[in-house]
Amino acid sequence: MGRIRWRLKEFPKKLLDSIRFRCQYSMQCLRSLTYNHHMSQSYASDVGLEPIFWFVDNFTHLLGPFFVFAVVCLTAAVVIICYWVGLPYWWNKSQNTTYFLMLVGHWLLWNVAYNFYKAAATSPGYPPEKELIVEAVSICKKCIAPKPPRTHHCSVCNKCVLKMDHHCPWLNNCVGYGNHRYFFLYMLYTSVGVLFIICFGFELGWNVLFGDGAGWNEVEPLHGHPVRFNLSGHIIPVTEMNDYIDDGLVPAQHDLPVPQDYSSNAAKHRAIVFMALINVATLFALGALTAWHSSLITRGETSIEAHINKSETKRLAALGKTYQNPYDFGPKRNWKLFLGLVRKRTWWWNVLLPSGHKPEGNGLTWLTVNDFRAIDGEDEWP
Ligand SMILES: [Zn+2]
Ligand SMILES: [Zn+2]
Repeated sequence: MGRIRWRLKEFPKKLLDSIRFRCQYSMQCLRSLTYNHHMSQSYASDVGLEPIFWFVDNFTHLLGPFFVFAVVCLTAAVVIICYWVGLPYWWNKSQNTTYFLMLVGHWLLWNVAYNFYKAAATSPGYPPEKELIVEAVSICKKCIAPKPPRTHHCSVCNKCVLKMDHHCPWLNNCVGYGNHRYFFLYMLYTSVGVLFIICFGFELGWNVLFGDGAGWNEVEPLHGHPVRFNLSGHIIPVTEMNDYIDDGLVPAQHDLPVPQDYSSNAAKHRAIVFMALINVATLFALGALTAWHSSLITRGETSIEAHINKSETKRLAALGKTYQNPYDFGPKRNWKLFLGLVRKRTWWWNVLLPSGHKPEGNGLTWLTVNDFRAIDGEDEWP
């Protein structure tokens, strides 16, 4: 009896041991069949994310035209609302301020529209095909073609792009050597533009959304009967609409309230809510992106090079060396080069006003800090 009880006590332990052994054996079996010396966590995550990369690469290109259409529609909606709601508001407040706001607003709009069109329509620049590229520093594994310095392969365009920064779905274009300036100026002018609308539409928006509607004379509809004053100053309710017709006078002369279309007030209210949401969201998103790209331009690098330079700095620091970005000529020169402010081009004509000047060089050859040190006369450089 005692022996049977002992065996029953042992049974769960033996069963667990057997399950554990079989599990370990299966795992070993699986490992021996799938062993790969190069397997690491990052490799596994790369393989796991491959379907997502495939989806992004293939569908970004297809969705591109819709993104561009969305940007155009949203910009047009914002401009229409400025005319429809903002213009009458400022005209009633001060005509001189309205002239000034119209001037600044149209200058911003002109720059936004021009730089967006140019950023989307200008080729970022590709290495020449079937030609000897003496500048090439490596081979693109995907194009099986020589790659000049600063060139990177875009998996959405499926092409190598000169001085590639990134692929922008909102432009349906790659941002690179040929259109980098347009892309940056588009972001900058759009951020300033929405800030302009927020500043000069703030009072109007605040009154309508949170205040009593002051300065918004059409928001509150008149309630009750229309009235008129008789000669002794008493208010006489107008109950018959033919009061307008009886004396053969038009309503204005009669001093009777003119019937208004109040349905447009609800639409204007919705438009102001839309403006508040879209402009604040754009300011945060594009403002942050503009700030990030400004810091990249100041350091003379692209978005891709920022990652490369960071890892190179770390790698060389571990060896006790310092890394020098070969395309960083100092903040002032980096900006001048980026904006193309060389050969007597000026801020006034080439940055503050739309300018179609081409970027420096050919996108294949890049001068480095070492070349710069070799040049004595600073005048040859921006
Ligand atoms: Zn390539
Ligand atoms: Zn691309």
